[in-house]
Amino acid sequence: MAVLVDYHCHTDISLDSHAKYLDMVTAEYAAGVRWLCITDHCDTVDWRTLQFHQECLTVAQRELEAYEAAKDRIPRDMHLRMGMELAELIFHPELVGELSSPPWLDFILGSYHITREHGDFHEQDYRDPAFCKELTDIYLRDLQWVADLNYFDVMAHIGYFRRYASWQGVDTGLTLAEHGDRIENILKTVIQNGKGIEINCSGLRDGVGPFPSEEILRLYKSLGGEIVTVGSDAHRPEDAAKCVDIGQQVLSACGFRYVTVFTKRKPEFIPI
Ligand SMILES: [Zn+2]
Ligand SMILES: [Zn+2]
Repeated sequence: MAVLVDYHCHTDISLDSHAKYLDMVTAEYAAGVRWLCITDHCDTVDWRTLQFHQECLTVAQRELEAYEAAKDRIPRDMHLRMGMELAELIFHPELVGELSSPPWLDFILGSYHITREHGDFHEQDYRDPAFCKELTDIYLRDLQWVADLNYFDVMAHIGYFRRYASWQGVDTGLTLAEHGDRIENILKTVIQNGKGIEINCSGLRDGVGPFPSEEILRLYKSLGGEIVTVGSDAHRPEDAAKCVDIGQQVLSACGFRYVTVFTKRKPEFIPI
C-alpha cells in the first residue's frame, strides 16, 4: 500500500479543536500516516465579530513549542512537520509577511472562509438561489485574490462551502460548465506561481465529495499542475487521516502519480 500522507489537521492551538497535540499525532500514526503536517488555524479576524484576532500573531510560536514538547515521543518513522492554515488575509493583507515568515514553518495552507460582505460561509442560508449565486461569485472573486497574494504553498479546500449548502439540501453547482473560466484562472495563477492545491478529504467523510471536485482536479492536471497535498482536515483524533487513502486513490484516478509533501516550504514528491 502507498504511504499515507496527511497535510491538513488541527489541534487545540486552533480555536475550533480540543485535540491535544500528541493525541492527534498518535492517532494519525495509528491510522497509518507517515508524513504528517499539523496545520492549525491562523486567522486574522474573529469569525463572529470580524475584529482583529490578536492570537494569530502567536500561532507559529505555539506550534513550535508544541512540536518541541512532543518530538521525543514521536515514532522515528513518522515525518512530522510544522505548518499552519493561514486565513482571512483579505482583512489584514499587511500581516502577510509577518505571519508567513517564521523560518521553522514547513508548510502553509492558503485559506479563505469569511467574506467582507456577509461573514463566514458557514453561517449563510443557501436556499435562496440568487443569494447562493452571489456567494459563489464572491467566493471565486476572493479566491482569485488569495491566489494573487501568493503567500502559501498550497491553496486549501477549493469549493469547500458546498458542504454547508449541502446540509441545507442545496447543490451550489461549482461546476466547470458554469464557472470554468474563473476556476481556470485561479488554477493558472497557482501554477504560474509555482504553488499547488490540496485535495481536502473532509467532504469525502460526509458524502459531498472531495474539495475540489474531481473535474477541477482533472482541469488542474491538464493545465500542468503537479503539486497536490492530501489532507483529512481532522479536528478530532477520531477523524485522524479519515479518507486520505480514498483521496490518494482519487488523485491517482485523475492521473496524478505523486502526492506532495513539504519540508521548510520545499516540495517533495511521494509516489502514490
Ligand atoms: Zn479551512
Ligand atoms: Zn482546516
